[in-house]
Amino acid sequence: MRWDTLRLDDGQSDDAVVPRAPALFGRDAVARTFDTPGFRGMTFYEVHAKSIINRVPDASRVPFRWTINPYRGCSHSCSYCFARNTHTYLDMDAGHDFNTQIVVKVNAPELARRELASARWQGEHVAMGTNVDCYQRAEGRYQLMPGIIGALRDAANPFSILTKGTLILRDLDLLCEAAEVTDVGLNVSVGFVDKTISRSVEPGTPSPERRLGVCAAITGRGLACGVLMGPVLPFLTDSPAQLEATVRLAGEAGAAHVSPIVLHLRPGAREWFLRWLTETHPELVERYREFYVRGAYAPKAYQERISRQVAELAARYRVGQASPVQARRISRRTGRPAGTSPAPVQLTLL
Ligand code: SF4
Repeated sequence: MRWDTLRLDDGQSDDAVVPRAPALFGRDAVARTFDTPGFRGMTFYEVHAKSIINRVPDASRVPFRWTINPYRGCSHSCSYCFARNTHTYLDMDAGHDFNTQIVVKVNAPELARRELASARWQGEHVAMGTNVDCYQRAEGRYQLMPGIIGALRDAANPFSILTKGTLILRDLDLLCEAAEVTDVGLNVSVGFVDKTISRSVEPGTPSPERRLGVCAAITGRGLACGVLMGPVLPFLTDSPAQLEATVRLAGEAGAAHVSPIVLHLRPGAREWFLRWLTETHPELVERYREFYVRGAYAPKAYQERISRQVAELAARYRVGQASPVQARRISRRTGRPAGTSPAPVQLTLL
């Protein structure tokens, strides 16, 4: 590994030697640890990025061309996360390091404002939360998103956010202001609502119920919020009853739409997910190997069947047809008025 070491001396950090990579992160990068329960065992690399609005490679099959990612690595720690391999570009591993060694682009808000004002910028849609979650736990401390959303709002630049983090509710007023002047697309990611599986395979995330509470709170403020139903885990969360429970609860949360995505296993995610599967469901390992024998994707026929089932369920449960008033009622039923925080773990770290 190309690591130098850095002794922390900022008073907030443990007196521990932690690594940093000047060659990759720049001379002014700082490595920091925090001795608070939610951050124990984690290291944050505060870096000054050169640019923040990044172009998606042409080969990518995604419906947007520009992204903002203020973080690299993600404490939500989903075993299936497809972004894991990107950590290896930093000379860190795609497993534990991805969960605990987080790069923080501390100048993201200033850069976003500057780049959005540039004469070269054409005002295209900017997607966030597409690589790692911009509302992961670190955001509770670093608070980069309000500055980024504020810059997008002031430039009236269209954008979208996908998240599993309840911390997005902190920024709901800002999101409403932005939606007054531009297109704002919001989605929460809830692949399934089985709490036991969620705690095991995505241990750092708020529960599926709380994520759907986010959807209800956003919808209750009059903004549309979709549910990205991903990933559907073959043989684990794909029974008709499980699919039905997820779509029904998404409908009750006022989701504007539900879009299923079947698990795909790219390098990095593949090894880490199969390791989790071996520990928790060894009887399924061989079935998965056969299912994903052709590569990263599940068989097409299976993907099509899941899409069909979810579409039928979405129609049955009138997904996309709840009015903001109905969603507000749902939000109240969960004991959390629309637009306020469900006291997520992330907020307790603020
Ligand atoms: S929340 Fe998203 S980015 Fe974070 S670990 Fe899970 S899948 Fe990856």
